[in-house]
Amino acid sequence: MSDAERTMQLKSYVTGEWHAGTGDGELLRDATTGEVVATASSAGIDFGAVLAHARQVGGPTLRRLTFHERAAVLKALAKRLMERKEEFYTLSFATGATRADSWIDIEGGIGTLFAYASRGVRELPNGHVHIDGEPEALSKTGGFSGRHICVPREGAAVHINAFNFPVWGMLEKLAPTLLAGMPAVVKPATATAYLAELVFRRIVESGLLPEGAVQLVCGGVGDLFTHLGGQDVVSFTGSASTAAQLRVHPTVIGNAVRFISETDSINSCILGGDAAPGTPEFDTFIREVAREMTAKAGQKCTAIRKALVPAAQLEPAVAALRAALAKVIVGDPRREEVRMGPLAGLAQRREVLARIAELRREADLVTEAATEIVGADRERGAFVAPTLLVARRAEGAQRLHSIEAFGPVCTLLPYGTNADAIALANRGEGSLVSSVFTADQALARELALGLAPWHGRLLFVDRDCARESTGHGSPLPGLIHGGPGRAGGSEEMGGLRGVMHYLQRSALQGSPSTLAAITGRWQRGAREITGAVHPFRRTLPELEIGETLHSAEREVTLADIERFAALSGDTFYAHVDEAAAKRNPLFGGRVAHGYFLISAAAGLFVDPPYGPVLANYGLERLRFAKPVRPGDRIKVRLTCKAKSLRVDKGYGEVVWDTEITNQDGEIVASYDVLTMVSAEPVEGR
Ligand code: NAP
Repeated sequence: MSDAERTMQLKSYVTGEWHAGTGDGELLRDATTGEVVATASSAGIDFGAVLAHARQVGGPTLRRLTFHERAAVLKALAKRLMERKEEFYTLSFATGATRADSWIDIEGGIGTLFAYASRGVRELPNGHVHIDGEPEALSKTGGFSGRHICVPREGAAVHINAFNFPVWGMLEKLAPTLLAGMPAVVKPATATAYLAELVFRRIVESGLLPEGAVQLVCGGVGDLFTHLGGQDVVSFTGSASTAAQLRVHPTVIGNAVRFISETDSINSCILGGDAAPGTPEFDTFIREVAREMTAKAGQKCTAIRKALVPAAQLEPAVAALRAALAKVIVGDPRREEVRMGPLAGLAQRREVLARIAELRREADLVTEAATEIVGADRERGAFVAPTLLVARRAEGAQRLHSIEAFGPVCTLLPYGTNADAIALANRGEGSLVSSVFTADQALARELALGLAPWHGRLLFVDRDCARESTGHGSPLPGLIHGGPGRAGGSEEMGGLRGVMHYLQRSALQGSPSTLAAITGRWQRGAREITGAVHPFRRTLPELEIGETLHSAEREVTLADIERFAALSGDTFYAHVDEAAAKRNPLFGGRVAHGYFLISAAAGLFVDPPYGPVLANYGLERLRFAKPVRPGDRIKVRLTCKAKSLRVDKGYGEVVWDTEITNQDGEIVASYDVLTMVSAEPVEGR
């Protein structure tokens, strides 16, 4: 089918086929010209079959892949989409987005895939079980233990997305879902579904994902909710009213379906009392408010809706913002000089204008309507001018704290004390983000503690970070995106935190050996495997979890300590000054350097000749438990704790659980040694 035909009628991708909805479908229009871009209808889809396909076809195939294999798929997919980005940019103009707006949506979304791909490799094992936390000791002798594991849920992840970021909104949910090993059913918001459908089409065409891993529904979700079960997850982004309706769906409640929601929020920014006009913080504040109002025409869930300024700075802030907004060129986003396009559609414009009218009952208008709409018709396109309001008397205001005009709209509010600023920001009853512009770090701390309970993210901008700041409105893959209360009460992204929604945590109890066998990770108390071959002579596939070396013993002498002090330059009194060391209440005399012990331990456990161990790339969890004095004798236990072969590489990581004990069998130091080990025999290479 040609592209021209495709844009006429969007198709859903369900149960392995492209499905054209029956009936006429909803008309989707270009936000600037009003011309029909596409029609969408999901009529005729069997939603029970869609969920069954995800659970029975997509899920099992995805779960057979390891976390690293799934991460590799995400990376390949990100590369493929990046190669096709220009066609996404071209179609994105129809949503009203300028090229700069589309960058956030398109490359921000693809960047999120890349970010999850690399986190998956770095932070998850090349296996099927993610271990959460450390072993829990459950008995006196250590013979009975507990451990938490996380495995992919066996249901389907239903993603319901908002219209404002059709690409990012889809990819930021798909990345953690697929990495976790769950299949997804994506339902883009209908208004901009044509862009989501194009990107999705390229995903399917790439052939990188197994069948059933992703499905797409263009149009409504019909009776899908009635088919949800206890292994499914719903991840919703949109308005609080839709979220409120869906989270109390009888099937969601009855089957305890995991429900995540990101909803509207009244975000704020605060100009610190120190940030008077002329300071870099004041200038950055003005730039950021203007940018947040106009980027994506203010249709960002994170956009600043309330700008709080010290009462003394209200008029300078009004003047500076008026001047900044006067420079914004509004019009057809295809035109290079245009800085702000229309809203996504006329329905959104009607909604935003109604909300502005309500806000104006508590605030005055500062900016005038844009005098010119460049290259487009003011009425046919969904244009709304940047609208700055000021509430000179903020006490008693209600609407400013509860009404979100999802467009280029922001209200300036004066505050008195720092406590007033916190109270005004928190009256949003739970927000995605607040940002503070101050060079006063004591103030930053006071505001952080007051704002954090009500906000999912806090940004502090001063002159030192202003240039590199990612900005108020940008959710980042490594940081949580979400917020309490009105913002939906959930978190997305935040690195692995976002993956956890799609995994089921289960507490295991048993003997350390059984738990090690289940998790693929050795733990103290589990069986050790000792053999004639030094573990450093074994390739990664040959090494077994639990393979252990018990070293010979070595006496630590005063000469060792002095030589190490001279060699390293570490002449701390506890090692070199007997009189001073005696006064130390913890040591009562000279002790060996901890770093000497680690070095001496390496001398005890390494196998020197060329072999499969390629590198030691670090230590983790190092603790010095007891002092070692001259005359003490130490020895080492080194156990293969975990191993992870890198996908498509001839080597992988091996973690060695290491304990140094003294002549009385007491642990003096414990740590993990991290090595790279070859997967191939290395002799003769
Ligand atoms: P909406 O009406 O709630 O729609 C959001 C999504 O829900 C759309 O995909 C919509 O599909 C779907 N939907 C609506 N009714 C449904 C139902 N009964 N069953 C299943 N799905 C249903 O929100 P919107 O007005 O389009 O989006 C703008 C809002 O989203 C703003 O308030 C904004 O703050 C919020 N938002 C929040 C975030 C965040 O991360 N917190 C991000 C972006 C946007 P249709 O399009 O087919 O109706």
